[in-house]
Amino acid sequence: MEKKKISLVIPMYYEEQVANECYKRVKENLDKLQNYDYEIIFVNDGSKDKTLSILEEIASNDKNVKIISFSRNFGHQAAVTAGLQYVTGDAIVIMDADLQDPPELIPDMLKLWEDGNEVIYGKRKTREGESAFKLFTAKMFYKTLNSLSDVEIPKDTGDFRLVDRKVVDTINSLPEHNKFLRGLFSWVGYKQCAYEYERKERFAGKTKYPLKKMLKLASDGIIGFSMKPLKFLAGLGIISILASLILFILALVAQFNSAYNASPAVLGISCLITFFGGIQLLSAWIISEYVGRIYDEAKQRPQYIIDKKINF
Ligand code: UDP
Ligand code: MG
Repeated sequence: MEKKKISLVIPMYYEEQVANECYKRVKENLDKLQNYDYEIIFVNDGSKDKTLSILEEIASNDKNVKIISFSRNFGHQAAVTAGLQYVTGDAIVIMDADLQDPPELIPDMLKLWEDGNEVIYGKRKTREGESAFKLFTAKMFYKTLNSLSDVEIPKDTGDFRLVDRKVVDTINSLPEHNKFLRGLFSWVGYKQCAYEYERKERFAGKTKYPLKKMLKLASDGIIGFSMKPLKFLAGLGIISILASLILFILALVAQFNSAYNASPAVLGISCLITFFGGIQLLSAWIISEYVGRIYDEAKQRPQYIIDKKINF
């Protein structure tokens, strides 16, 4: 009988301190699974340190290791998206390079897959060694996302997951750019199941997700999965029209009541100007988020550019 195959997709951005250890730990755990073949696809997301040369060295000694190397940094989601396009396995595992998602859990997740689950997503019970700021922003992010989004996106869930080939084929067939993967994996449906785990501390090095990248991810998630910001705009419009009606009535009262003098009206007007100015700016911002994405899709530019492929 032919063995089933597991594919791992591991994005790397400036992970020279982590790459060797990552490969070692992953290989150790995959070698234990004797009933499965495996491949490890490392995606070098435009790192300019030694990440790529370390990976090349690994790949030259192990033909189960494949490398996709980008021409520059296209971001974590693009790196995973690229990896998913090239997997050949029956079950696919997406994990971070820094060993925060322990490869020791793969056998358990595989069992859940063999039991018929098609998306087994890692749900973080605890998160070690992450700053209070990160924990707080992550919490706010999932809260906002779920209150806005049209599909339920499990909270405390990153991209660490094991998915069936069928699901990956579906994701690969979606033409959209700026894929917010954890949202899409939830959106596509199929038989889903959570797998709770303790998220470890990063093995070495610093986070490659500065605030700027977190904000990009958050806006891809929210704008990509919800039309509510547009409705929010309509709501604001109605509220401001109501407010102006009240102000109009107050102005009439002031007009016909000589006890009022003019300066409150001047104040009121300047207050109004700033109020509407604010609303307009906010509206323009929301619209531009959507227009920007339409522009992005319309350009049909690829989400990433591959410079080099090894062992394919
Ligand atoms: N990563 C990437 N491109 C980027 C940023 C991050 O491929 O532009 C990778 C990184 O190498 C790691 C994973 O995405 O394997 C998660 O990044 P990180 O651990 O820095 O994020 P955190 O765990 O702090 O949220
Ligand atoms: Mg990490």
